[in-house]
Amino acid sequence: MRIDLHAHSNVSDGTETPADVMASAARAGLDVVALTDHDSTDGWPQASQAALAHGVALVPGMEVSCRTEQGISVHLLSYLHDPAHPGLLEEITKSKDARLTRAERMVTLLAEDYPLTWDDVIHHVAPGATLGRPHIADALVAAGVVSDRSEAFTSILTSRSRYFVQHYAPDPATAVELVRAAGGVPVFAHPVASSRGRIVGERTYRDMIDAGLAGLEIDHRDNPEEGREFLRGLAARHGLLITGSSDYHGTGKPNLLGENMTSPEVLARIEELGTGTAVVRP
Ligand code: AMP
Ligand code: FE
Ligand code: FE
Ligand code: ZN
Repeated sequence: MRIDLHAHSNVSDGTETPADVMASAARAGLDVVALTDHDSTDGWPQASQAALAHGVALVPGMEVSCRTEQGISVHLLSYLHDPAHPGLLEEITKSKDARLTRAERMVTLLAEDYPLTWDDVIHHVAPGATLGRPHIADALVAAGVVSDRSEAFTSILTSRSRYFVQHYAPDPATAVELVRAAGGVPVFAHPVASSRGRIVGERTYRDMIDAGLAGLEIDHRDNPEEGREFLRGLAARHGLLITGSSDYHGTGKPNLLGENMTSPEVLARIEELGTGTAVVRP
């Protein structure tokens, strides 16, 4: 069984429609794929239909943007939650709205030094999609400022850049509680991805575990090996599930579907724990 539990569509910052992500998953030989767009479940209906058509199983999911008190960014994957649960829906709606204002502020700053307008950015965003720095990167690529998203993220768009602006995001422990309340299964995405910015300390893990964290995404290309060892120890001590995933973004990132995978046993456990919605099986 080939199971990949982390993929994005153009409902957030992936480059393919939800249906095309399902087609790509089938082509990559996956049996199971999770659609985990940032702060949105809008892709679920289209993905469900396409999953049936392409003969892959879909795990409906989402990736919740969070930030600790210390200002460290945390991504929390949620699987099989009820998309209409008011508490969780309110938080992701707040984040999504804040992302819009934040992107406008970043573009205002960037426009002082680069040939970039708000229209150039919007051109790369599907209607209603969760707006992120990758969309600004796409506009910078189109303007010839950088050659691809990765280059934009190593310089102009990093969290250390002078053009970077934060947006509202819930605290990770609060997000874990909300995902659980919505019947979902919360998994800490790429926890030790130090290339993306500062990573959290023990206190945050403890708070998230106390709030009901179910798993750690250990097999992810952005987790360096020494960090994975620490995570394996943590998972063993606290009985946390271990997942592996690609974090596919279409052509927006080099990550390929199936480059990291999750075991059938862990998927079975996620299905037992997730009560807000069901896996869609062909
Ligand atoms: P934001 O959510 O607006 O803060 O932007 C973060 C998003 O940018 C993440 O979801 C990543 O998918 C994407 N990202 C981060 N680093 C890179 C990179 N080096 N290349 C392409 N996309 C990236
Ligand atoms: Fe992303
Ligand atoms: Fe992420
Ligand atoms: Zn992701």
